[in-house]
Amino acid sequence: MCFRVKHSTNRQKRVQLWVVVLLLVSLFFFTIPARATESDGFSAQAQEGQDLYQKLKTGKRPQSEKTYETPEQPTVYLTFDDGPSKLTSQVLDILDKENVKATFFALGEQAEAHPALVKRIVQDGHTLGNHSYNHVYKELYSDFQTFWDQIQRSEDVFASLADTRPQLVRAPGGTYTNFDAYYYYLMDQAGYTIVDWNVDSGDSKRVRVPASEIWQTIKGSPLEHEINILFHDGSGHESTVEVLPQVISYYKKLGYAFAPLTTQVKPKQFPVGKPKWSRNMSLAHFQDLLKETQQYALAHVQTDQDQKDAELHLAQQTAVAREETAQILSAQAAVPLQVHVAGGSSFTIEPAEYQLRANRIELPLRFLIEKMGGQIEWQAEKKKANAHFGVYDLEYDLSARSIRLYTLGNSVATYSLADMDLQDGKIIVPLRKTIDLLGGRITDTVIESDKREVSVALRPFYMFKENNSILKNSLFAMGG
Ligand SMILES: [Zn+2]
Repeated sequence: MCFRVKHSTNRQKRVQLWVVVLLLVSLFFFTIPARATESDGFSAQAQEGQDLYQKLKTGKRPQSEKTYETPEQPTVYLTFDDGPSKLTSQVLDILDKENVKATFFALGEQAEAHPALVKRIVQDGHTLGNHSYNHVYKELYSDFQTFWDQIQRSEDVFASLADTRPQLVRAPGGTYTNFDAYYYYLMDQAGYTIVDWNVDSGDSKRVRVPASEIWQTIKGSPLEHEINILFHDGSGHESTVEVLPQVISYYKKLGYAFAPLTTQVKPKQFPVGKPKWSRNMSLAHFQDLLKETQQYALAHVQTDQDQKDAELHLAQQTAVAREETAQILSAQAAVPLQVHVAGGSSFTIEPAEYQLRANRIELPLRFLIEKMGGQIEWQAEKKKANAHFGVYDLEYDLSARSIRLYTLGNSVATYSLADMDLQDGKIIVPLRKTIDLLGGRITDTVIESDKREVSVALRPFYMFKENNSILKNSLFAMGG
């Protein structure tokens, strides 16, 4: 408990006061009959510190207590590392033209060389993150103290140039095999958020990667709900500038919003790997570092107002991006969607009845359930819907964004569905996920500019309205 300083400042101050009082009292009583008792509070505290030290030594990170916000719309977080350089102004011009906000993990050394660009990054509404001072791995990963000193040094540069102390930190080279559990824990104690990525554009895997290769890498990357893409705006990355407009347009067409990273966004983090650096963390050194990082946290507590401002900022950015994406989507060709069900039945969903977001087909729940021969009841005041299908009942809870599945009246599973949405009084759900929940499977999807088809296989006992027959196929075992 004594380590959670940043969550409870006042309590912490009280605890500190008590520690001082206890220390004085104990000095008075125990100085002469030295080390009279072993079972006092101090050895308990020391024990706690040792336990933590030993636990981190095994490479395990303590569970995080933080909560994050998942955006409703699929979102891309563009990140640019190693700048600013003379290419950064071109990147900023493109982002400005496309009305996209991004994140720049800048180096302190580069910031000193390009002060005007640091100011512009912040003024343009992008997030400035800390990427150490000089990016030299051997220094950064030889000891946490050096890493920490570089983060502080860069932060002072950013504070003097743009009046901001970035809370987001990206480890040069990423955390995997560079960070150990001590690095993670100490940065966390200081209040920083460590951010890796889930899509590497590959723009830095060797010198001068051509734009076409970066493009192929991006196109081949999985379309997750939140995509954090690693790019570089350091010198020599002309290809990144070249490919950027194409990348932005690609994700916009797929229905993605763009947002700058904040502490509210769940950070992509690699698992802790075995460090490739030989380091020795002694208990005494760990305790010193812990003190230093916790003192930093106490001195730089983010106020509630700052937090609210940051949230408001993100909400505004996302709203703008969402509107733009909606325009692009409505401009896309209106093509009916053909649904083929294994067993022969098929039906058409008119363009007005479904939407395409991030290559995902979404449609009103009622429409889908009724097409599949089920019934649905909507309880407006509870923001819940109940669907009935043969032996299955589904309860959709819009406020909790969850779906509870019942078989013969018994609750068998609860699924969370972050993608559920209420639009014009209709519950909109993703087709694939909902079919999965109903025990079926999408076996094939064709999404082209002039043709959209999905093939669905269902469990037995589903009734289809179109032919009113009971479909029996043995693809799925009951109760699986
Ligand atoms: Zn880097």
